Amino acid sequence: MSARFFIIRTGFDPKRLDDPVSIEKTLRRLAREARAHAKADESGFKVGAAGLVQGPGTKPAVVLGWNDETENGNGLHAEDSMVAKMAPNERFLRLLVVGQNEQLLTPCGNCRDVLAKRTTEVSEILIQPNPSTPPFWFKVNGLLPNTHVPWGDITTTSADSDDHRLFTEALRLMKDRPYNPHRQRKFEAVAILSREGNVYPATSLPNASYHNQSAVGSGIGATDSARERYIVKVLSISSEQGLEKPVFPSGRCLQQLYEFGQVHGNDIAVIAAHPSGKSWLAMLSNLFPYPFGPRDVGINVAQYT
Ligand SMILES: [Zn+2]
Repeated sequence: MSARFFIIRTGFDPKRLDDPVSIEKTLRRLAREARAHAKADESGFKVGAAGLVQGPGTKPAVVLGWNDETENGNGLHAEDSMVAKMAPNERFLRLLVVGQNEQLLTPCGNCRDVLAKRTTEVSEILIQPNPSTPPFWFKVNGLLPNTHVPWGDITTTSADSDDHRLFTEALRLMKDRPYNPHRQRKFEAVAILSREGNVYPATSLPNASYHNQSAVGSGIGATDSARERYIVKVLSISSEQGLEKPVFPSGRCLQQLYEFGQVHGNDIAVIAAHPSGKSWLAMLSNLFPYPFGPRDVGINVAQYT
């Protein structure tokens, strides 16, 4: 009996690069094979991913990934695992992600952050937001935080009293001895407004592993501890915020906001503010299009109001 090798990366015939139907067929088949390797003891939700990649002057290849979970939630997603098999100069041409029940998945917010560095303007992902209509190729850039938001979706905020409270609280924490010993590039303070009218400020909590607790995560933790799970608005001041265009929270942060938005089924206003007071507002539904959420894994969170 011969051992069966499983594929983690394989070549792709350059002559087929202009044939999206053939690419889809190959990526689906290989993503399903990848899914068979998934370790999903916690979620019970196996995921496989396949990406057609190419670097400058190099031959195209397909890289595969699958989720590999740990008990404490620090495991790899299929997209992380796929990116780990790419050479540093390779970028995605096309990719797709297949879930436990054959459905095509859009990447979670964290994976959107991971994919951002490996994406070009032509990278596309196969998505199927509505199971009763056919899937279609969609620009990956259109899913990424701070790259896709059409300027028309953003309004410069008027300083109403709630916004002023949020801004004052976030700025106070940003300036008052923030814990930032590792001087990481992006440091952030947020203030979250609950439906009850309370304000919950928080800053990023970096640590030496660079797997930081985000300010949004800390802020949501505070609202949850008070059992105020209806988030109306979040204001963020980032160390990377300039005066020209907004810097909204990362994909990981948007994922956490989306989860809580699903509890009450509400959209959330997100404000990116500069310390000078200049600010921009967009709705979470615009910042996090085609979201991945509890419903994708068959869970209804409405009982947690
Ligand atoms: Zn993910």
